[in-house]
Amino acid sequence: MDRKEEIYENIKLVNDKVIMYTNATLIAVSKTKPASDIQIAYDLGFRDFGENKVQEMCDKYEVLPKDIRWHLIGHLQTNKVKYIVDKAYLIHSVDSLKLAETIEKEAVKKNVDVNILVEVNVAAEDSKFGTTLEEATDLVLEISKLPHVHIKGLMTIAPICENPNENRSYFKKLKQLSVDIAAKNIDNVSMECLSMGMSGDYTVALEEGATYVRVGTGVFGQRNYNIN
Ligand SMILES: *Cc1c(COP(=O)(O)O)cnc(C)c1O
Repeated sequence: MDRKEEIYENIKLVNDKVIMYTNATLIAVSKTKPASDIQIAYDLGFRDFGENKVQEMCDKYEVLPKDIRWHLIGHLQTNKVKYIVDKAYLIHSVDSLKLAETIEKEAVKKNVDVNILVEVNVAAEDSKFGTTLEEATDLVLEISKLPHVHIKGLMTIAPICENPNENRSYFKKLKQLSVDIAAKNIDNVSMECLSMGMSGDYTVALEEGATYVRVGTGVFGQRNYNIN
């Protein structure tokens, strides 16, 4: 089977499940994969792609169609913000006020508005970035005061699991948090987006209210090396 058929079969299988939920969108996570793979999915009509490294996203941004919606899903260092504030459609990984303030500063310089999600480490794993469930609401309140940074919802990376049901409680908790925050009607804060679910557990995440699922392996196949 050639590469085109392979990606087509994979992405159709995943997207057929995603489109059963009218509010949900598939983000094809293309990290480590060549621009030619993205072009194949693009030609099939897909526009949302996820990258976790700033440099890689910028390189692909240069060579691929400009109507792609680039989702930055990996940890973002403050010194790299300047490269992507005007390129990312949505930054999923904002987990500190310091990072949000840097985004604000760079957004002003480039005269853009930046949409972000607040990353929550729902499972409280030591190995993961993200604010805690307990601190998330205060962080949202602080970030909401930054005029060029717009919170659109929450994101979480659930633990690696053998059975996707093991992660259901984490998805439920993120959904509940978004409902609680939405009820506060904070200026400049929307809770319309819930980014949760990856190749192993996206069906469960959809059942629990995901509006974005981030699927890499399930669309483009195994990566040669393992990076988060
Ligand atoms: C790599 C990555 C994904 C996709 O992982 P798969 O298991 O390959 O689907 C999703 N979210 C984040 C934040 C990632 O880094």
